[in-house]
Amino acid sequence: MPSSSTDTFLIVGSGLSGILMAWELEKRGVDYEVWNSGAKSGPESNSATKVAAGMFNPVSFKRLVEVWNAQEHLNAMRETYQSLEHFLNLQGELFHIAPIMRVFPNSQYRDLWLKRLNDSHPVAGFLSEISDECPKDVIAPHGFGVVPEAGWVNLPLLIKSFRSNLELRGKFFEKHWDFSTQMPLKFSHVIDCRGVGATQDFASLGLKIASDHGEILTIQSPINTNGMCVNRVKWLLPRGNSTFKLGATYKWNVTKSEPTEAGCSELLLALQPIIAPNVFNNFEITDHVSGLRPASSDRRPYAGPVNNLKNTYILNGLGTRGVFVGPTTASHLAHFIFDQTPLPADICPARFIKKQ
Ligand SMILES: Cc1cc2nc3c(=O)[nH]c(=O)nc-3n(C[C@H](O)[C@H](O)[C@H](O)COP(=O)(O)OP(=O)(O)OC[C@H]3O[C@@H](n4cnc5c(N)ncnc54)[C@H](O)[C@@H]3O)c2cc1C
Repeated sequence: MPSSSTDTFLIVGSGLSGILMAWELEKRGVDYEVWNSGAKSGPESNSATKVAAGMFNPVSFKRLVEVWNAQEHLNAMRETYQSLEHFLNLQGELFHIAPIMRVFPNSQYRDLWLKRLNDSHPVAGFLSEISDECPKDVIAPHGFGVVPEAGWVNLPLLIKSFRSNLELRGKFFEKHWDFSTQMPLKFSHVIDCRGVGATQDFASLGLKIASDHGEILTIQSPINTNGMCVNRVKWLLPRGNSTFKLGATYKWNVTKSEPTEAGCSELLLALQPIIAPNVFNNFEITDHVSGLRPASSDRRPYAGPVNNLKNTYILNGLGTRGVFVGPTTASHLAHFIFDQTPLPADICPARFIKKQ
């Protein structure tokens, strides 16, 4: 049913998807509340957004191609996070540009990079020329290329600030919701943004929300990367004041998330070959966190109506690229709800949900 100006929306989940949806309603002047579970354990307590490094990158390095709809996402995300900075009075603190220095693993990869540039492949617009002039602390015998339009969003700051703003206006509540709760009385619509907390409910409809485990280290180091994020197998992202994030591990379908010794070793071992030994040996690990990424079966988000539940919508499955694809996806869902604009088929959950 189309939404009207007297409707009140319930958004469940105050991670990245919940915030992006709340922002869409805020811009339209629609009345809403956000609920987030206060559980201390189990899937409801997982917050991928709290632990994520918040990086965005329009290039998929594995096959050296552009990410699906890269330019559309890049434009929407820049606009969204900068508007949120303004709204939350966080100018210059949320959205950061940090070009990615892709260290070539071998000469074939270097040739591929060159071929993409020479062929004017669609990804070429996101790539710089090859360089051999490495920052002195980085080892890159086959050279490297740079993705200039990359960076990171300070997600922990975003959720903390957005929640405080909602609390001040009486719009945030620590409450649980699931399918069995149905539509609480004062609300006309629900937008379900529960991340992996929604896995069980959606499984009953045939929609898979996988829990993909990831770990990240925070490191203090004197390493100088000229402000760039260094990428080869894993990535090292500078966060200022000699602090770096080193991530991330990836393990499919894990239900309980904990930082592990194995995860820590995997990250350090991947980084060692590309960092000068005198610098590598001076790392100090100051934090080690883990979380579960809510992922779809086809690596595209889910945004749309939930079958058989009246006026209930889902935004989920943001996977490894929530920062990059989240703003466009939330915007498509808002246009669908408020303007009856059809959803792009590749994000609509109907592509999987069983007809009952
Ligand atoms: C280690 C790691 C590194 C990552 N790095 C990056 C990165 O660099 N760049 C990037 O783009 N993405 C990254 N991601 C992925 C990114 O974190 C996710 O795409 C995004 O945060 C998902 O947001 P979400 O709101 O859907 O889920 P979540 O952040 O998990 O939020 C879901 C919220 O719903 C609440 N909830 C759950 N169940 C209930 C219930 N029944 N009732 C009420 N509330 C409930 C939870 O408490 C939680 O707050 C990373 C993820 C991990 C784990």
